[in-house]
Amino acid sequence: MTGMNLMLMGLPGAGKGTQAERIVDEFDIPHISTGDIFRAAIKNKTPMGLKAKSFIDKGELVPDEVTNGIVKERLSEADTDKGFLLDGFPRNMAQAQALEEMGVELSKPLVGVINIHVDPASLLERLTGRFICRDCGATYHKIFNPTKVEGTCDRCGGHNFYQREDDKPETVKNRLDVNIKMNTPLLAFYEEKGLLHEVDGNQEIGKVFSNIKDILKDLK
Ligand SMILES: [Zn+2]
Repeated sequence: MTGMNLMLMGLPGAGKGTQAERIVDEFDIPHISTGDIFRAAIKNKTPMGLKAKSFIDKGELVPDEVTNGIVKERLSEADTDKGFLLDGFPRNMAQAQALEEMGVELSKPLVGVINIHVDPASLLERLTGRFICRDCGATYHKIFNPTKVEGTCDRCGGHNFYQREDDKPETVKNRLDVNIKMNTPLLAFYEEKGLLHEVDGNQEIGKVFSNIKDILKDLK
């Protein structure tokens, strides 16, 4: 029997983190996020972890084959036998091909790819809304958490606000573009394989999750 072997996709700000948490809770499968398994592999000095560390220490990018190796080590662990949720992998076609191969080799092929879709214009609005009071450091968001009186800090009454570099429209736009470029071929690849399921991420969190649950129920 094939497990609930899933991959989660979504642009920055689409709410991937929140949905990932709910999915792994509901279906009792491990959340395999690339950042976490890298840190664990390095900490536990696994063969691939040591390789990764040698590149990181030199300030070099970790090559795909090492990233793939770390994912393979993780997918070889017994807790993934009933399923897993990949998050942040694969990020390119070479990694997607490698995942196909390890799926066959480990008998753990993907059974579904969920893409939380939010149009880039809305994401831009979500991700650039944050602003901070220069006087007291209070944080606000234009849409989700505005000041009670426009232009006046609720906490200290100050009128000086700024945005962090990461929250500025140019920076966010650039980050979104990079991710769109990265995701496009992957979405086409999984669509072609009949694995892709699109979820409308422009709904409240609970509704997004109930759509995901409906999709996953049909996969079982
Ligand atoms: Zn303030």
